[in-house]
Amino acid sequence: MSAINELYKQLIIDHGRKPRNFGKLEKPTCCKDGFNPLCGDQLTVYVKEHDGIIDDLMFEGEGCAISTASASLMTQALKGKTVDEANVLFKAFHSVVVEGAPAAKYKEQLGKLIVLTGVAEFPARVKCATLAWHTLDAALKGNQQPVSTE
Ligand code: ZN
Repeated sequence: MSAINELYKQLIIDHGRKPRNFGKLEKPTCCKDGFNPLCGDQLTVYVKEHDGIIDDLMFEGEGCAISTASASLMTQALKGKTVDEANVLFKAFHSVVVEGAPAAKYKEQLGKLIVLTGVAEFPARVKCATLAWHTLDAALKGNQQPVSTE
């Protein structure tokens, strides 16, 4: 394994074990439950949004290292960003992880999220990595249906 892959792996393990922004947000403007039955990952995303800006973002739940790390990195990446910026980043992340676009093309945009792009090679884990994003997306859009990756 290359040094860079090893570094990515360590970051995923670190965020999987010690997720950032983990817990329940008081008085969120929206929140949403997401479930990935394929792996058993479940999480709740809490958002505090004001004038199109994501002022605060937290999550809680139980899942595998990939889903937890992805949610943790997502909250870090999007806190303080606008909803529009969040949508752009979700699209970039989705292109690489789900559609297999080259990660290098979005390197600057993705920042730390780049560590998760390796899951594109493991179809069974793709839904683990995208669960938090789909859940946040539904929360921001005010979708009433619970989110399931299936
Ligand atoms: Zn999982």
